Amino acid sequence: MKELKILYLYPDILELYGDFGNIQVLRYRLEQRGIQATIIPYSIGDTPPNFSDYDLVFAGGGADQEQEILAQDLIQYKENMKEAVQNGVFFLLICGAYQLFGKYYKGVEGNLIPGLGIFDYYTEALADRKKRCIGNIVINTKLNGKETKIIGFENHGGQTFDIHTPFGDVLFGNGNKFGDHKEGFFLDNVIATYLHGPLLSKNPELADYIIQYCLHRKYQEDVVLEPLNDEFENKAREQLLNRFLHS
Ligand code: GLN
Repeated sequence: MKELKILYLYPDILELYGDFGNIQVLRYRLEQRGIQATIIPYSIGDTPPNFSDYDLVFAGGGADQEQEILAQDLIQYKENMKEAVQNGVFFLLICGAYQLFGKYYKGVEGNLIPGLGIFDYYTEALADRKKRCIGNIVINTKLNGKETKIIGFENHGGQTFDIHTPFGDVLFGNGNKFGDHKEGFFLDNVIATYLHGPLLSKNPELADYIIQYCLHRKYQEDVVLEPLNDEFENKAREQLLNRFLHS
C-alpha cells in the first residue's frame, strides 16, 4: 500500500481559522484511493522532526500572539526546513505560517517577529487593528499548466511585500495586501497562501495536485489519481463562483 507521510506543524497553536480541515481533506482523498495517510503532529516540546523524512509539511494560521510564541521554537529548524524545501518536500502554508517563512512578520502592536527567512518576502500589519483583509476571495492560478480558480476566505492584518512568484491573480478579494492583484506565494514545491476555508475543502483540484506531486516524487512514477465523486464540492464551487464573480 502506498503511503504519504504528512508533518502537521503546531496543530494546537495554529488552529484559529479551521485550517485543520485541510488535513482532513488530504486524509479523506488519500484513503478513498487506498493510500495510507500517516499524519504526524509536531508542537513545542515534541521530539524535533527531520523535515526531509516527510512528503508534505502543513501549517495553518493563527493570531499574532501565537505566532510570536511559536516563532521562537520554529527558528531552530530553519536549516533543516531549508534542506527539505531543496529536497522537494511539499510545503503547504496558510496565512500565519505563510508569513513566518518570510524574513519577518511585524505584528499589529509593531512587534517584530523574526521569520525563517527561507523566502525573501516580508509582512507588516497595519497599526490600525480594525484594518484587516477579511472576506471571501477567489484567485486564478495554474496547476500543471491548467488555469484553475481557487476559492477561499481571508482574514489577515498582515500585508505581504516582495512576492515575485505569487500563488495567483486576485479575481475577488484582497490578496497579499489591500488592493493587491496577486495572492500568496508559489515556488515549485511550496504553496503559501492567505486562503482559509479550509482551503482544500473548497478546491479538490488543488488537493489532488498536491497529492499527485507527493506521490510522483516519492514513487518516481507517473501517478494518475482515480477520480473521486466531487459532485457536492463542484456544486458549492459553482454557487460561490457565481456569487463572487458574476453577481
Ligand atoms: N496574525 C496574522 C495576521 O493577522 C495571521 C492571521 C492568520 O493566520 N489568519 O495577519
